[in-house]
Parts: sequence; C-alpha cells; structure tokens
Amino acid sequence: MRNTELLGVHYKHDAGGNCQNDVTFAKQTSVSMPIAKILIVEDEPAIREMVSYALRQSDFELLEAEDAQQAYGLIADHKPDLVLLDWMLPGQSGLEVARRLRKDAPTSELPIIMLTARGEESDRVRGLECGADDYISKPFSLRELIARIHALLRRSAPHIASPTLQHGAVRLDSLRHEVWVGKKQAEMGPTEFRLLRFLMAHPNRVYSRSQLLDQVWGQNNYIEERTIDVHILRLRKALGKKASGHIRTIHSAGYQFHTDLPEKSKKKSGKVKQRKAA
Ligand code: CA
Repeated sequence: MRNTELLGVHYKHDAGGNCQNDVTFAKQTSVSMPIAKILIVEDEPAIREMVSYALRQSDFELLEAEDAQQAYGLIADHKPDLVLLDWMLPGQSGLEVARRLRKDAPTSELPIIMLTARGEESDRVRGLECGADDYISKPFSLRELIARIHALLRRSAPHIASPTLQHGAVRLDSLRHEVWVGKKQAEMGPTEFRLLRFLMAHPNRVYSRSQLLDQVWGQNNYIEERTIDVHILRLRKALGKKASGHIRTIHSAGYQFHTDLPEKSKKKSGKVKQRKAA
C-alpha cells in the first residue's frame, strides 16, 4: 500500500472490507479485451507494480522489465504497443534505450513515454530529442499517465478502442475513471467501477456470480460469491434511482446490465402496454 497516494492511486475500501484481497488479486485481474499492450521499464519494483496495477485496471495488458536487457527481450518477443521508459535505469539508461529503439527499424515508431524524477526543462528537451514521444515527471498522477497513454495511442495507433462506454444515461469513461448518469457524476469504488465496466462492455448478457468473479476479480481469487451481491448493491446505490434499474438480478442465474430500464421506470413501455390493453 506504500506509495499509493504519491502515485495517485486511491484504494477506497470499507473498514473490514476486502482491501488486501482487492489489491493482491487485482494484479491478476483480466477484464474484457485489453486496449493495448504496454511495456513498463522501471527498476523500482514499487513504482512498477503500482503503474502496472493501475493500467491493468484500465484494461491494458502489461509487460514488465527492470532493465534495458529485459526490455529488449520483451519488445522482440511480445511487440508492445507503447513503452513507458524510466530514465534512470541500472546499466543502460532510459535515454540510451530510447535512442536504440528509434534506430532499429522494427521499433523506430514504437510510442515511448519517458518516466523520470527529473523535471528540468533541459532534461525534458533531451528526452524528447532522443526519441521519446512524451515525458512525465515523478511523482506523477496515474490518472495523468493514463490520459497521456491514451492521447499518445490515439495519435500513433488510432485503431485502438475508445475508452468510453455508454448505454442510456450511463456513461463510463475509462480514461478519466469516471461514471456519469446524465449530467451527474456517480461516485463509486474501484471494484464497483470494474464490475460496471465489465457488465457495460457486455450488455444484456447474464453472468453468474462465479463468472463475474473470474472476469472482474481474476481467476485466482478467494472471494466468496456472496461478496458480489454486496458490490452489486453498492453499484446500484452509486448509480442512483434513475439508473440502478439497468443492473438486473436474474433469479438463480446471476446479474446483467440491461440496456433498457425496467418497465416500472420506463414511461414509453407503459404506454405501449396500455395501448395493447385498450
Ligand atoms: Ca529508476
């Protein structure tokens, strides 16, 4: 949990909740299709882990290297879409890595964001001159980092999916990690956010509790199925009266995000029914 505030990650969990579980198991979480494959090259394990955690939460696939040699191997074998490159690495520096990636034909256009403790303008210029596309100084906010990644991917790889999901009045923005119901922002914890994102990405499909555990919490979780009910309850509360009806309980089957609101809260359907009755 150390460094989490510094890096802008907020782990809000209830007292007595599954904070430890969430943090531990979220690392193994895979939610829907990854947006893009990101390689982080960083020798400090705490920073590497926190960045990886946050990016996986935002649907990226992560590769991790602690030095230049590992990075070259991973780039050759796994072809990442973008590299987060620490400047101060043991052995070959991030600057040298960036220069070499730019020289080699297969990686000459690989998007690179430099991560560094240096914030001087001259360093920024040096970083960009050696081939980095963008530059972010530590300590940075993960939200900002994710925004920069999306921006760079949009420029360099426009095919990469839009990070926004919308059904009815509910809009989920993975980039900003925000959920809006109409013009009102819905505040929710990270688990509810992941749960909603998964359900919204697969609208109108019913998922059992165990499927949700696998998809949202990851396959190596040790969470009881009943815990899901608690998170569903919180999610409905966060969405409020206007939108909570999208989250439906399907008796003895599980849960779904239905793109329509239930009849009760939907005037149009009511009219259709009345007409039929008349
Ligand atoms: Ca370093």
